[in-house]
Amino acid sequence: MILEWLKKNVVLGDGGAIFELERRGYVSAGPFTPEVSVENPEALLQLQTDFARAGAQVIQALTYYAHEEKLKDIGKEGQLSAINTAAVRIAAEVAGKYGCLVAGNLANTWVYDPADPESHDRTRRQFDQQIQYQDCADIDFFIAETIEYLGEAKIALEAIQATGKPAMITLGFKSQDRTLDGVGLEEAYKELEDLGADIVGINCFRDPQRMLPLAARVRKAVSCFVATQPVAYRCSEKRPYFQIQQFQGRKAFPLEMDPFVLTRLEMADYAVNAKKLGINYIGGCCGTASHHIRAMAEALGRTVANSQYSPRLGLHTIIGDSGHKKERDARILCEQKYEPAVCHFLLTEDKKPETE
Ligand SMILES: [Zn+2]
Repeated sequence: MILEWLKKNVVLGDGGAIFELERRGYVSAGPFTPEVSVENPEALLQLQTDFARAGAQVIQALTYYAHEEKLKDIGKEGQLSAINTAAVRIAAEVAGKYGCLVAGNLANTWVYDPADPESHDRTRRQFDQQIQYQDCADIDFFIAETIEYLGEAKIALEAIQATGKPAMITLGFKSQDRTLDGVGLEEAYKELEDLGADIVGINCFRDPQRMLPLAARVRKAVSCFVATQPVAYRCSEKRPYFQIQQFQGRKAFPLEMDPFVLTRLEMADYAVNAKKLGINYIGGCCGTASHHIRAMAEALGRTVANSQYSPRLGLHTIIGDSGHKKERDARILCEQKYEPAVCHFLLTEDKKPETE
């Protein structure tokens, strides 16, 4: 189904579930593991409902880091089956209600070592275990994400191909445009395409501005579908990925990312720009919330369930079309409705705004 949808139009992905659930109090910053699917399933159901109502066409099962290596860190490796199974069930419930597709999800394993062949077997085993517990009957395709080694991505691709489902493989790039095993960007994606990946792309770490130039190169290098899922946190040329931003002289990641959140209009621009580049699957990663997804959907010309509550600024009592009739305090009216340059009130000599 996903491949049929992609042939017809851009497919809009969902947002960053782990970071949004952390903000809401259901995921612990640090391990960033998704036991929410069994411990607070209603919180996950609500978030994925929010994404679907905002226009996400794919709901990713929240099985990110639901693998042996990460669950060991929180003493819950015994819940591997329960967490993976519950996550797919919840995603399927939302997808069924809103006509979305369910994507199974695999992430980097933290056991892959290019120099150690034995670790390759462990990597494959972790992927296989997760796939085994993600009920394939409900899954349309699989996404493997935040993988930085081409070797690890190839193992994920093989594991997905064994299910017979379409494979979307996204790699993460921090400061470099090479994989951590030293393969150049174009070469890495060409290899994944040649091995049969249906969709290839980039996700996480970088903001749209720093991801799209790489995505344009991917678009030129391959002929299969291309995906982008950037973070919704502002980065810079000096600090191109979100984990190294600085706030008040200290590392902002992961507890002080709030000042870096991109606005919905910036994410809407990203969706439009990605479409112009020929990107087929456009979503968001960490920091992307449902208001971003709705703005992206609407920028792509779509009306979604929650468009019912999209902004109607004309009805605002002060800044709206007829608000000035109700706001009797001229100073407040000027401050909120007009730029100081056009606000005669604020420009009078005795009442100039205080300089900051
Ligand atoms: Zn992310």
